[in-house]
Amino acid sequence: MRDDAPNSWESRADTYSLYGFTDLPSVEQRGAVVLTHGKGPYVYDVHGRSYLDANSGLWNMVAGFDHPGLTEAAKAQYDKFPGYHAFFGRMSDQTVMLSEKLVEVSPFDRGRVFYTNSGSEANDTMVKMLWFLGLAEGKPQRRKIITRINSYHGVTAVSASMTGKPYNSVFGLPLPGFIHVGCPHYWRFGKDGESEEQFTARMAAELEATIIKEGPDTIAGFFAEPVMGAGGVIPPSKGYFQAIQPVLKRYGIPLISDEVITGFGRTGNTWGCETYGFMPDAIISSKNITAGFFPMGAVILGPELADRIQAAAEAIEEFPHGFTASGHPVGCAIALKAIDVVMNEGLAENVKSLTPKFEAGLSYLAENPNIGEWRGKGLMGALEAVKDKATKTPFPGTLSVSERIANTCTDHGLICRPLGQAIVLCPPFIMTEGQMDEMFNKLGEALKKVFAEVA
Ligand code: PMP
Repeated sequence: MRDDAPNSWESRADTYSLYGFTDLPSVEQRGAVVLTHGKGPYVYDVHGRSYLDANSGLWNMVAGFDHPGLTEAAKAQYDKFPGYHAFFGRMSDQTVMLSEKLVEVSPFDRGRVFYTNSGSEANDTMVKMLWFLGLAEGKPQRRKIITRINSYHGVTAVSASMTGKPYNSVFGLPLPGFIHVGCPHYWRFGKDGESEEQFTARMAAELEATIIKEGPDTIAGFFAEPVMGAGGVIPPSKGYFQAIQPVLKRYGIPLISDEVITGFGRTGNTWGCETYGFMPDAIISSKNITAGFFPMGAVILGPELADRIQAAAEAIEEFPHGFTASGHPVGCAIALKAIDVVMNEGLAENVKSLTPKFEAGLSYLAENPNIGEWRGKGLMGALEAVKDKATKTPFPGTLSVSERIANTCTDHGLICRPLGQAIVLCPPFIMTEGQMDEMFNKLGEALKKVFAEVA
């Protein structure tokens, strides 16, 4: 695959770029995939090869890679007012309109919005808001944050501390005060003979025991993705949010729904919390908010937190936080258009109408003796590779099975993502049924080839 000439794109990428979240021996051997443009759900590399991107970029390019309405909205706003901040009581008209829109489409009857450039910063901002609140309300000890094992909340020092993945230990993280409770993945963590309902009850009991052990007064908030994304697409066990929300309420702990992936239609409703029937105290949004056409994140506060944080800010005359590009007018104009495109131009409907076919494709591939389970919600799904289906024994990590499957797919013009031993699919909302067939056919071939090699 790779072109080793010193002036090739691959060599230039290797020489000057520090790759993030990349298996370096693999990229050394195969070369970076350097992309130039996209069309619909396809992206094209410098050698003219095309790839059906079954991951919507990084879960975010829900409208595909060339939506004219979105580029026109960007261009019009660049022509009119290409940048401004949201400090000192100033902000663009687009920012005002987007906040209004976000509260309108949120599950809250009223609220307030604060902007960031990314999902990590939005989680970081929410944690700072909770810490700010603790101090302002005379509870300075209320600083601990609870999240779940296998959760993903970002890469800044705080959001990486929230993330429940072991790889952050290379940074000496998590910071003190970040606590991880059990992952509600029944198939993997359910005990022998334990029903899914019993498993859910155990998760809720474990959460309550952790709160009591840590001291309820020391907990500032609990963050959860409605469906864990980068943990390997893990929908919650049956009744999970209904079981944990009363526990959190009992101790006055805010529930923050990290909807960076699930927001704006991915699970079949505007919000993942709607899909799972719970009401959070705030929502973290990013990615789909601009259909990936601009880096943006947002904290959407529900009424109670909005009032408390506003009161705390008024008491000291400001909320001392913000990024240079918070509420960027171009980002806001794109987000306004993206929300309209997703909600009113049939994209959200596509998620609903494509979901049965998506589930059928996953379920068909899961008949393979080396797929332990398929799981998913709406248009996000995963296939879990196993050495032994009956015992759920994974392949040895040294075989890099999911990476090999993903590499084989790449060789055949399909981008999908290995996560642990799972292969993750998160197609753009504009995918057609024919493109979905292409996706499953190519993945099916790759599974056959790699399992034949490793079996
Ligand atoms: N939260 C969730 C649920 C995410 O999936 C991600 C990114 N994959 C983030 C936060 C972090 O967002 P970003 O990469 O924009 O910082």
